[in-house]
Amino acid sequence: MSPVRVAVDRERCCAAGMCALVAPATFSQDDEDGRVVVLEDRPPEGERASVAEAAAICPCGVISLLE
Ligand code: SF4
Repeated sequence: MSPVRVAVDRERCCAAGMCALVAPATFSQDDEDGRVVVLEDRPPEGERASVAEAAAICPCGVISLLE
């Protein structure tokens, strides 16, 4: 299975920070505006579940997982 790729739409991120809470190895927040920062756009397989959860709970729906 090829690694999942993470894409975000920072323009529509509402800086809720849920992604960084559930998948801190993959997502962080910008120090200034709080918007999402992708730390690892091809997270390891072991992170897949938490990254998928982050995409599911993002209140703005701006996280996409590309297979
Ligand atoms: S959970 Fe969604 S809205 Fe919140 S910081 Fe992450 S990407 Fe942005």
